[in-house]
Amino acid sequence: MQKQTVIAIQGAMDGEIAVLLEAMQTYTEEKHGSYSFFLGEVEKIPLVVSRTEIGMVNAAAATALLIDKYQPSVIINQGTAGGHDPQLNVFDTIIGKEIVHINNFVSNHLEEGEGMSPESWVPMQTFVREENNKLKDVFVFESDSELVKVALELGPEYTNGKVVEGRIGTADFWNREIDRINWLHEKFQTRGEEMEAYAVAQIARAFNTPFLSIRTISNSEITQEYIEDLDTAGKYCAEFSLLVAKTIYQQNLVLQTR
Ligand code: SAH
Repeated sequence: MQKQTVIAIQGAMDGEIAVLLEAMQTYTEEKHGSYSFFLGEVEKIPLVVSRTEIGMVNAAAATALLIDKYQPSVIINQGTAGGHDPQLNVFDTIIGKEIVHINNFVSNHLEEGEGMSPESWVPMQTFVREENNKLKDVFVFESDSELVKVALELGPEYTNGKVVEGRIGTADFWNREIDRINWLHEKFQTRGEEMEAYAVAQIARAFNTPFLSIRTISNSEITQEYIEDLDTAGKYCAEFSLLVAKTIYQQNLVLQTR
């Protein structure tokens, strides 16, 4: 029997999934440990909405459970992000073509009393076990290129700002130091930072599941806008992610990418 196609949409916080639950109208909540999964439909499209909770450990656990329990055809990880690119304003949306770990470093030896030197920390790679049983060094995880294309093509439908593609940085860290943000932007070419996508992309890759990152900027230290509005950015991102999910489904991309 062919398995039913399900699209998964993740958000870390309630404000990042509220729009999705409203759109489904009726849904069933299933809990695995402390992770909630909401099963329902929007316009006959089967969805599983996953509240991952905040941070990389939660995101990894929720993604492994999601894949094991529901075998989604596609995982869309979406939500809010901090801006790293002076060209991007609050409420602009980044299609996270690439995801990089911005809290994975090895430091050089310094003697006692020589202090700490974050600028000299050397980025580390992530080992991924390949199908041939060899370990591969990975520095960036990628969103599925077909899915990125669909999301970018829908950019003109997004009326709250611009939609751009770019690299997202993930860490269990909220950076507010402008020099550090600029350093990350220059060293890693990040356009935004958040706390889940890398973990999700890593687990999605381990299970060969197509992944897409979409993030709306909710705050930026570098644009003098002085806005930090996670609720509004979370709502905008979820609305756009739902449009992307519908389009992916209608174009039958999920079946092709399985
Ligand atoms: N609302 C809480 C904390 C949110 S923690 C509070 O204000 O205390 C951060 C969450 O928002 C994470 O899920 C992360 O993905 C996202 N996020 C938004 N902007 C961020 C930023 N500048 N840095 C890191 N994470 C950010």
